[in-house]
Amino acid sequence: RNISFLEKAQHLNLSFGPVMWSLPLLRYTDVPPRVTENFILSGYRFPNYSLRQCLVSAFRPTNETGNFWTHFLPIFVFTFHFLEVFTWEGAPEPSNPFFYPFWNYFLGVLYLLLGSSLAHLLNSMSLIIREICFFVDYGTISAYTVGSSLAYYYYIHPQVQLFFDSLYIPSSCLIAIICVITCCNTRQCWRKYRYAVRTLVFLLPFFISSAPVFYRLLSPSASSPSSSSPHLFSTMATFFYRHCFWLVVSAFFNISKIPERFSPGNFDIWGHSHQWFHCCTFLKLTLPRLVPRGCIVEQTFQKVLISFTREGCMTHDSICHCLAFSLIRPLTFPPSF
Ligand SMILES: [Zn+2]
Repeated sequence: RNISFLEKAQHLNLSFGPVMWSLPLLRYTDVPPRVTENFILSGYRFPNYSLRQCLVSAFRPTNETGNFWTHFLPIFVFTFHFLEVFTWEGAPEPSNPFFYPFWNYFLGVLYLLLGSSLAHLLNSMSLIIREICFFVDYGTISAYTVGSSLAYYYYIHPQVQLFFDSLYIPSSCLIAIICVITCCNTRQCWRKYRYAVRTLVFLLPFFISSAPVFYRLLSPSASSPSSSSPHLFSTMATFFYRHCFWLVVSAFFNISKIPERFSPGNFDIWGHSHQWFHCCTFLKLTLPRLVPRGCIVEQTFQKVLISFTREGCMTHDSICHCLAFSLIRPLTFPPSF
């Protein structure tokens, strides 16, 4: 079967010339089975594209075009909103250590959006590059989890010493690494349940990393009318529920494969579930942006500065582990095609 794919690839290159910028798109029967997506019948790129052909494919309708743009364009929207925080009244300089956790969060989101959009664009260079692309994609989701945990921890500064001071950041880093390993494994084992496993694996870090928000929402002192910022509390609650809503909707699209499940072939290029999943993922990223607001309003900058160096280094370490693992994994245990 491998030989017939090779022959097909050679045939395409001979027929259309090696310098051709874009090759014809194929049906699911013409590409290796592990490249196919459930209920997506056409619009496939054969996994032998050059880097240039991959880049050009961003501007032609393939079944990855929407997946690329739905995470690439949000980079600019997110950067705009991120920079806006520095213009808030009373906010310190962008280089102030107060913003270190916020920069860390920004890097997490940037890695996530960039890693995901490039994974969708470049995955047709070869089967092994495809694996690397998606392993890096999972690594960046974990980088985002750790980045947002850090922002929550420093800006919400929960007063439950034992858990938050000793266990919160280490558990969030550990869970992030476990999630990368599990998601990478779904590309080889448990393939039938891969969408469900990947979704569940990324719901778990949500519960760990959102612990400071749960603390803030459930702690009676924060919600009492005597609190220094009751308005801020209600805004935060609204943002958090919105965050949860988009999280649930994104999980729904990722598992259900709606709408293409009901009409296979009609959503091959535009409108399939993965594009909606990307949109919902972006919409749920808005919450941690609000978190520094609390410190700016309450003027509690000093609390944020405490021991950032230790946690910051550890977080960077674990982000690097996530990314390194996602690169090393397919090279040391090559997937069987
Ligand atoms: Zn994606």
